Amino acid sequence: MSKKISLASTCVHHPEWTFDNPPNQLPLVPASAFAFETIEQGIDIFDGRQKGHIYSRFGNPTTDAVAAKIARLEGFDLDSPPRGLLTSSGMSAIATLVMALLQPGDKLLTQADLYGGSVALFRDVLSPLKIEMLVADLRDRDSVEQLLAEQGSIRMIYCETPSNPVLRCIDLDQLADWGRRYHCLTVADNTFATPILQRPLNHGIDYVIHSTTKYLNGHGNGIAGAIIGRDEEAMDGRITSTLRLLGTNASPWEAWTLHNGLKTLSLRMERHDENAQAVAEFLQSHPAVGRVNYLGFKDHPDYALAQRQMSAPGGMISFDLKGGLEAGKRFMNRLRFCTLAPTLGDTDTLILHPATMSHRALDRDVRLAHGITDGLVRISVGIEAVEDIIADLEQAMEG
Ligand SMILES: *Cc1c(COP(=O)(O)O)cnc(C)c1O
Repeated sequence: MSKKISLASTCVHHPEWTFDNPPNQLPLVPASAFAFETIEQGIDIFDGRQKGHIYSRFGNPTTDAVAAKIARLEGFDLDSPPRGLLTSSGMSAIATLVMALLQPGDKLLTQADLYGGSVALFRDVLSPLKIEMLVADLRDRDSVEQLLAEQGSIRMIYCETPSNPVLRCIDLDQLADWGRRYHCLTVADNTFATPILQRPLNHGIDYVIHSTTKYLNGHGNGIAGAIIGRDEEAMDGRITSTLRLLGTNASPWEAWTLHNGLKTLSLRMERHDENAQAVAEFLQSHPAVGRVNYLGFKDHPDYALAQRQMSAPGGMISFDLKGGLEAGKRFMNRLRFCTLAPTLGDTDTLILHPATMSHRALDRDVRLAHGITDGLVRISVGIEAVEDIIADLEQAMEG
């Protein structure tokens, strides 16, 4: 501009900036909208004839880059990378996917030992919209086959493997086979395993869901989710448009912090895994501890399946204190090094009491039937020096 603009306008307008050479980090683009050079360019971008961004609820360079990276991880062994979308939370990823793909009258088949929020979403939000939830033991082949044969309107099988907090596993090959034979979509919540340990798309599962809030971010400083799918038409069409209309997009800030975490995901998972093995062995040898649920132990009912479909058991453990609820409460109040917090997958060791926290939405009978006893304690083993974790657990169990 040749004429100098006023002092007030100088405050308002953008500074002059260009990338003379690129930054060596993913740029954070916290813009709500993107500018068009001409009206023709604007029309072409709106119509999809030219690549470009419009408005960050529709897509954002930072968010899109991180979504594509997670899709590459989940589709690591596939010939062509699947599509990925980032959402504002794990819950909104689930809600967006189900609302995009199911219609009133359709049924969704799932397991009882699901993340508490997922059960409540299906029961309290989707059921009133006439998307009915059916619950079955997805490990019981005969009863699932019977249900699928009888109930023609099951359009989606939704699973979580390993499940929270007793780490039961679902056979992903079997699930994908049901999906093909009974014409239903298959979805796996891969939050606990991460694509480092398990990649459901490899097994023929249609969609993967993540709460990236957990291991993928890993630093406990953001809430976001992801949908990864192999069906490009559905991902680019119905699922993208539902996400845009519900406004369940992730913010570029959250995407950016998530990306910082992703850089060390593989390294962190290795250490989580190593530490969990040592902590599980300590717990199993302690006289105050009853059952220890850990996928690396041969006595876990899904040990063989986990060996087959996961590359390592991961960083999650749950265990029963012999003294029940009172012993559990005393134990948790005595912790000094580990943190009592309702999340998982962070760098530090996190302890949670499922019965009063993550699984409070479940009926007590259902809870107990799935091994979630009143005294059950869940540990998300962190990446600290393992002797410090064990020393804290040991001192907390004294008395
Ligand atoms: C935390 C969690 C969710 C929900 O994710 P948010 O990011 O909290 O919305 C879904 N599934 C599993 C297995 C989780 O652990």
